[in-house]
Amino acid sequence: MGMEFARKLTIPKEVKEMYPLTEEMKQTFNRRQEEIRKIFSGEDNRMVLIIGPCSADREDSVLDYIGRLVKVQEQVKDKILIIPRIYTNKPRTTGDGYKGMLHQPNPEEKPDMYKGIIAIRELHMRALKETGFSCADEMLYPANHRYLDDLLAYVAIGARSVEDQQHRLTASGLDIPVGMKNPTSGDLSVMMNAITAAQHSHTFLYRGWEVTSTGNPLAHAILRGFMNKHGRNIPNYHYEDLMQLLELYNQKEYANPAVIIDTNHANSAKKPLEQERIAKEVMYSCHYNADIRKLVKGFMIESYIEDGAQKIGEGIYGKSITDPCLGWEKSEKLIYEIADRV
Ligand code: PEP
Ligand code: MN
Repeated sequence: MGMEFARKLTIPKEVKEMYPLTEEMKQTFNRRQEEIRKIFSGEDNRMVLIIGPCSADREDSVLDYIGRLVKVQEQVKDKILIIPRIYTNKPRTTGDGYKGMLHQPNPEEKPDMYKGIIAIRELHMRALKETGFSCADEMLYPANHRYLDDLLAYVAIGARSVEDQQHRLTASGLDIPVGMKNPTSGDLSVMMNAITAAQHSHTFLYRGWEVTSTGNPLAHAILRGFMNKHGRNIPNYHYEDLMQLLELYNQKEYANPAVIIDTNHANSAKKPLEQERIAKEVMYSCHYNADIRKLVKGFMIESYIEDGAQKIGEGIYGKSITDPCLGWEKSEKLIYEIADRV
């Protein structure tokens, strides 16, 4: 066979028993989940900011970064609820390159999936315990969700995964907000179909079990821009794009119509400093039209300690090794600027 079965990995239940949450951590998690749910259901008008590095490459700088958000969160708590991004598994366009902490707990060493599972659980646990933040991650591998399901505040399904049935059905069994990104081609019907699928109940196969999901009323859209057939980046955060999304939501019955605007990726053409302008434009659209303000629940921002990105091995502390990010001072300023406009 063209595949070596190296070892059987510890199942999620056992990993959770090895690394359990304290009562206090569970309470913090539940309290935040209720707040986040109220924002997505429209009972709370604050915005959510899903903010942090493209990839959580190392524990020290990621925890340093998230620690800095604590003070800012306190300052803006009447306007904004921050959900730090701890993205531990990265989809790759061609499959090549760093696939995240899950694969490589040390980006300069070879993959070790067991160490990876422990490393990502420990990182999310430390974030919750030391900063009081439950965080967001991407659901790249649906079967892995249960290694972190007691820790994740928010899950995104990436542009390259959103058409996949297993992702959609797994999302239908979660009770946290799941953001469905528009696909890399920009076809919004793919994203809307993913939301429909996730909002309904299904019976399917999951980790060797027959399972039945309840349907997830908190599944929603994320607009991240796209690339056209000529290889050009086309943004989809402008007023007309938001109006079009409103129309799509109005065409069918959806629970809790909502969108998060991803300010990086194909919306910024990966020019991270543009994120400030993009967020402000969206806030302007929100002020212009009350229906848009109701629809837009917040932003996804790629932000880290240093501006930009570096190659693996350069070793610059707090600088992204995947997509280029907005550095700390500019990010802090942007959070305050968004709060002023909520
Ligand atoms: C990301 O959020 O870093 C990411 C990979 O996003 P997308 O799936 O939109 O490319
Ligand atoms: Mn990214």
